[in-house]
Amino acid sequence: MLSVHACPLAKLGGRDSGGMNVYVRELSRELARRGVEVDVFTRWRETPDARIQELGPNARVIHVESGPIRYIPKTEVLARIDEFTDKVQRHIEAEGRSYDLVHSHYWLSALVARALAARWDLPTIQMFHTLGLVKREVMDEDVDGESEARIRIERRAVRESDALVAASEIEASELEQLYGAQPEKVSVIPCGVDPEIFRPQRQVDAREALGRKQCEQLLLFVGRIEQIKGIHVLLDALGQLFARRPGLRGEVCLVVVGGALDPGDDAPETEKLEELRSLVHEHRLEDVVDFIGSLDQPRLATWYAAADVCAVPSLTESFGLVALEAMACGTPVVATRVGGLQTVVQEGVSGLLVPAGDGDALAEAIERVLLDHRLRMHLAHGARERAERFTWSSVADSVEALYQRVLEARNAPVRV
Ligand code: UDP
Repeated sequence: MLSVHACPLAKLGGRDSGGMNVYVRELSRELARRGVEVDVFTRWRETPDARIQELGPNARVIHVESGPIRYIPKTEVLARIDEFTDKVQRHIEAEGRSYDLVHSHYWLSALVARALAARWDLPTIQMFHTLGLVKREVMDEDVDGESEARIRIERRAVRESDALVAASEIEASELEQLYGAQPEKVSVIPCGVDPEIFRPQRQVDAREALGRKQCEQLLLFVGRIEQIKGIHVLLDALGQLFARRPGLRGEVCLVVVGGALDPGDDAPETEKLEELRSLVHEHRLEDVVDFIGSLDQPRLATWYAAADVCAVPSLTESFGLVALEAMACGTPVVATRVGGLQTVVQEGVSGLLVPAGDGDALAEAIERVLLDHRLRMHLAHGARERAERFTWSSVADSVEALYQRVLEARNAPVRV
């Protein structure tokens, strides 16, 4: 498993750590449980981590030193990718281990996959998690300065990988239409949720555990503090909600989970968080919005259960684990009609969907769920039912079956 910039052991919710880290962690563990031996190669980012760490029986994380052991921007990770690749190869030689296939995550890992495939004649499976061309459509600037190189690398990975994994039908068609992927190469495998962690709890208990008032209307946002997550649209929507219904001010509050608030963290309070704080000020929402920083998943589960609505206002989303986790906790979701969110959230059944970037529509949907108790109960029930279908175990079943198909195709005699 190659996951150059997303370590499966990383603290989540900070800079560049989110769904992909969870995906690699959960998939690797599930595969390992079924006897597939997994080594995850990732860039060494946290000093206290050991170079090699167990992820569970049969699964290891191998930290590869390339650049300083701390957060570095993706452009710098890319600049050091040859060093990373070289070290992975030397590690493999030194251990004398041989692999059957390479499963790589995100565009940065695709380059490493190409090198390993060429050297040891290995089949490769690629999952992008987000696509550069899709991101470019919704972002007004190339925030990470990664665009051109990224798209070139993605195109090559689409051409040369043996198989591609898409998290939704929508991502599959983006791969086909924007990148010219051959449809037979693309497998749609939705992501999963851990039902042991994300399960319904009584709202009163969750609120008590968190020390929140029982009578407040609690709106929750969870995610990395990035423009692509659309928090600015949510703040705008909240401003509009209070303009329309001034009576709700003082009753509704928004809790934002994610981002590093701890100055000792390697991702100190970012410019993005500063920008959001000034937006909060602009909309006069200081008394309404709480930025509480990132949380581990068990703690996060209590927040989902305490919330009345979880807002997922992303501008684009390959899947949207946050929506699924909230649903698994029985919390209705108001999400944007983009990417995988459209397949996770069923409109009117497990949540409401609104157009991306539309603060007006978002405000209206939030208002409906907050004010209409029956609708909220109906969506909460639908959300729980829907989430039950998505487990990491079924993700691993599908991925393992894909591995088998790829290996069989490799070993099949060549027909002339
Ligand atoms: N997450 C977390 N703590 C936080 C914020 C986020 O554990 O403070 C996790 C969250 O539970 C989810 C993931 O980060 O599993 C975010 O995944 P999603 O697919 O929603 O977004 P991505 O990060 O992939 O864009």
